Amino acid sequence: MIKAEIELLAPAGKWDVMVAAVAAGADAVYLGGKRFNMRMLRPEYNFSDSELRDACEYLHQRSKKLYITVNNLYYQAELEELQDYLVFINDIGADAVIIQDLAIAQLHKELNLQIPIHASVQMGIANGAAAALLEEWGFSRAILSKNLSLQEIKDIHHSTRLSIEYFAHGDLCVSHAGQCYMSSFMAGESGNRGRCLKPCRWPYSVANGIPAGEMKYYLAHNDLCLVNHIQDLIEAGVASFKIEGRMRGAEYIAHLITCYREALDNAINKQGEGALAAHSRLEENKIRDFCTGNLYGRPEIDAIGLSGAREPVFISTALRLERLKTDDFEHRPITLEKSGQLSVKLHDPRVIPELLSPELETVIMEWEGIRQLKGQKSFGRIQEAARQLEGLNTGLVVELPRIVAQNDLPDIRIALENIRGINVLAVMVNDYGSLKLARDYGYNIWGGYGLNLSNTAAAGFLLNNGLKRLTISPELDAGRIKDILNCQSPVELEMMVHGPCAV
Ligand code: SF4
Repeated sequence: MIKAEIELLAPAGKWDVMVAAVAAGADAVYLGGKRFNMRMLRPEYNFSDSELRDACEYLHQRSKKLYITVNNLYYQAELEELQDYLVFINDIGADAVIIQDLAIAQLHKELNLQIPIHASVQMGIANGAAAALLEEWGFSRAILSKNLSLQEIKDIHHSTRLSIEYFAHGDLCVSHAGQCYMSSFMAGESGNRGRCLKPCRWPYSVANGIPAGEMKYYLAHNDLCLVNHIQDLIEAGVASFKIEGRMRGAEYIAHLITCYREALDNAINKQGEGALAAHSRLEENKIRDFCTGNLYGRPEIDAIGLSGAREPVFISTALRLERLKTDDFEHRPITLEKSGQLSVKLHDPRVIPELLSPELETVIMEWEGIRQLKGQKSFGRIQEAARQLEGLNTGLVVELPRIVAQNDLPDIRIALENIRGINVLAVMVNDYGSLKLARDYGYNIWGGYGLNLSNTAAAGFLLNNGLKRLTISPELDAGRIKDILNCQSPVELEMMVHGPCAV
């Protein structure tokens, strides 16, 4: 592969939407089945197995492409049926499968499937090293994180031969895709399983300085609309322009596709005026206000719908969060075959002397501050931890950030250079770009909770690619953790049992 023609990619949740999108000028359609698919909150949407087969035929007869979303994280108990489903999708001749969970990459290899793999936006691909790693792993396309600057998209494009897909229009999360646990922790419904109840769309009050009772929609991001910027995006290397909205009706999607078709054709033919006309038609029918995300700089407060006035529908209402009491905890012991070992994750190395004990296997020094403070400035903490642990049986693990955008890569490299001179047992990575860099530097690599490990197939894939120990996703309940632990797997696993977990 891999560079592709410029493509307009439409969503479809129903047959009539797919037909309308094609009639309006889509080059390709992405949709999901009734199983293993993210957008499952509305039972009347999505395609049955026979509809998927028919959709493939319908689109191919018209020289259009079909990409099928199998883009959840999967639990251990789902793996068996998932295999059959992947074989089915492969056999009907769909043009690609869109995935989040590396379990599918593993099964793809084991089952010798031929269908191309596209990395879902949920994989959080936000830097060129991650894209290059996916290319090594046999992916053919990366759907990049939504919040990148134009220059970052360009740099990623130059780092890989993968085809680059980018969201041009639709909802924006206030959080980085694949790293938001807000719905999971507040309501037990995981955004990484397509069940997000959108608590970021609720009104909140902010402590310190805001008068009591003043509730505003502080996290309610406006919608992305890049119709005026197609030319820039083509020049940056975007090959596929994706429109969001798999739960929308035919009329709405047809209108979006007509506008973007016009803008895309005008951009390809270098006629800028068409985009302006398309933009004003989109403005007339908009749901929320529009913004351009991070494309030309960090979003300011005007990218947030503070008043809530343009929120179309609230699919859930705000919960009053109660402080948990001791009685609220249910004692559910998990029986393990072998005893566990203890790690502690720290920011401040000065507490290490108080923690040292024979049971303490590792100290994990978190290094989220690389993004904010830059690697060089915060290296002293890591050096101090190494000094405290020198000559002891407790190993030092350095944990890299959960979100690594293209602009962060130089600092990740500096951090990995800096720790060469100290005694580090392992580097814990939370994104695929850090994984590639840590591997290239030759470190022993562990996976942090940002990799969202939910099953042993994904663990097997990461083990085959050099990771020695993995953290189980903090979203799994006790039963699902037990399902993983009961499997015979050579992977060393760890899980967080206490402490704050950034949502
Ligand atoms: S809670 Fe909001 S930011 Fe988080 S995944 Fe859901 S929609 Fe996105």
